[in-house]
Amino acid sequence: MLGIWQFSRQKKITYLMELVLLTLSELSPMFEQFDLDSELLASIKKLGYTKPTSIQDLVIPEAMAGKDILASAPTGTGKTAAFLLPIAQHLLDYPRTQPGFPRVLILTPTRELAIQIGEDCKQITELTKIKTGVITGGVNYGSHTDILTTTTDILVATPGRLLEYIENEQFDARDIEILVLDEADRMLDTGFSEAINRIVAEARWRKQTMLFSATLEGAGVLGFAKEVLDDPIFLESNPSRKEKAIIHQWLHLADDSHHKLNMLVNILKQEGVERTVVFANKRETVQYLSGKLYAEELPCVWLEGKMPQDKRNKAISRFKSGEIKVLVATDVAARGLDIDNITHVINFDMPRKVDIYIHRIGRTGRAGNKGTAISLVEAHDMAVIGKIERYTKERLPRRVIQDLRPQHKESRVVNKKVKLKLTNSQKKAKAKKQVKKNAKQAKKAAK
Ligand code: AMP
Repeated sequence: MLGIWQFSRQKKITYLMELVLLTLSELSPMFEQFDLDSELLASIKKLGYTKPTSIQDLVIPEAMAGKDILASAPTGTGKTAAFLLPIAQHLLDYPRTQPGFPRVLILTPTRELAIQIGEDCKQITELTKIKTGVITGGVNYGSHTDILTTTTDILVATPGRLLEYIENEQFDARDIEILVLDEADRMLDTGFSEAINRIVAEARWRKQTMLFSATLEGAGVLGFAKEVLDDPIFLESNPSRKEKAIIHQWLHLADDSHHKLNMLVNILKQEGVERTVVFANKRETVQYLSGKLYAEELPCVWLEGKMPQDKRNKAISRFKSGEIKVLVATDVAARGLDIDNITHVINFDMPRKVDIYIHRIGRTGRAGNKGTAISLVEAHDMAVIGKIERYTKERLPRRVIQDLRPQHKESRVVNKKVKLKLTNSQKKAKAKKQVKKNAKQAKKAAK
């Protein structure tokens, strides 16, 4: 065999350069390592994805090997492409031999998320013949005729409307080979569990199931996963620092809702508070707040669950375009919204559960951007604050607005049980105190 030293100088340089590139590509994972078809690689490149995110790194090889997956992945970490790429590759590897119903079903808790995933899917499969359809509630039945009567490969759907089509025998789930349950915690929380169970049972001939959930904390996700997954592999994303959300969180103690409103107006008028989502627990509060904000010359759009789809879309697009900087919404209404560059999330009302808090604040600080989450907290909210602090193992800093100080002090009893993580300066101060104490004791002993 010829040694490298027998090559010409030019050939030697080329050989060494190729060797360096090969080593570099092995050190830093690239999409090329996944054995994806060139059409998919080209679409990824067009989307500007240069390197897989950590969840993609974990999920793609296992999903391509056909395994059932249980993944804990927060939104904004690239989980959609993590399941779409292996799905697209499966459809390219095993092309359809005859027309029929969809071979892949992706279930999501909300219309907006379904539309978003449908768009991602179309972009990723743009250079292939794979056809994607989206079925959600809130739109007229006729708009789904095409999907139900012509061949569609990937269907993204919300459970309620899809189940209606299954019951009317307009849709047959028995051709489903791959089933994805996205944001499963949210789906279960919103009372979709019966619909999902029925759809899952209908899709009983499937070969692979992937379940994604922002947290595995919510009610019954693990139990549900046990029912629907077959010997799954558990994957937990550990987002890199760049991917990880940097969310500054703090709270303001409030006396009552009037006090909260004054603080909200004050915060929204502060500099740097750009694109903000304000969460309230009830539809009535959303309407009340919107009126009050307009009166304070703070234009806003609002979303609430029972709004017609065209009004929702209009509100979302005014907020997305930056025309209006404040969005007021309930959790149900804001679920699935994928809007970039949200600078602030304000909890006008505190959610009752920790996982909802995590979801809410996850709307800011996406893709490595900085974000701020501010909670306006009344005395009766302290129990949930305790739970949040136990979950995050960090104390939420308390802040005050100079002219809007609360009349009441925080009850210390509620937070007694919280095992808090000390900040570095607190640790240093504690260590200093200990050194002093030891010295004092040593002195005493010497006397
Ligand atoms: P997701 O968590 O799927 O909602 O994705 C969050 C955002 O990250 C979306 O805007 C994606 O387009 C984007 N994204 C997904 N994968 C990558 C990647 N490998 N590199 C850069 N951006 C990505």
